[in-house]
Amino acid sequence: MTKTLHIEVDPSLCASQERMISGELAYEELQQIQADIDPSSSAIRADLTFGKAGKFVVLTGRISANLVLQCAACLELVDYPVDIDVKLAIINDEARISLLADDYEPYLYEGDRLLISDVVEAEVALVMPTIARHDVCPIELPKSSTSKDFTHETEKKKNPFDALEKLKLN
Ligand SMILES: [Zn+2]
Repeated sequence: MTKTLHIEVDPSLCASQERMISGELAYEELQQIQADIDPSSSAIRADLTFGKAGKFVVLTGRISANLVLQCAACLELVDYPVDIDVKLAIINDEARISLLADDYEPYLYEGDRLLISDVVEAEVALVMPTIARHDVCPIELPKSSTSKDFTHETEKKKNPFDALEKLKLN
């Protein structure tokens, strides 16, 4: 059985042990982004390692998934592969963010414990598009947006003929 990422850890302890965390987060386990993705999405896979950079606890590794989203244009499903290079500084004291080197993105948490699935979901949420769309939709789109252009185009083409008609009448 694959290990779930729904685990709570002590970041400082993990950092001193250089603990590695590998596992998956199934659709059913999602709390932040479940409503935004289709149930046919793959589980989110993460391989993360705790460590230290100076006085900071850092979390590095990789998060990947094959998400399935709904296309805003045609409402059909669209594949959205995700592959994230994780380089986070795990911080529970906002005041320390300013001391952080540029190499790491701050991840703020409260208290002493960190829920790994929270971090993973937040990272995926960051790379997800606000509006998902196919590059080219597999089905024909409703004409509402294109019909105007079409009419406009035919009117333009008609104009020379209208002029010609007028000339003939004269
Ligand atoms: Zn589409």
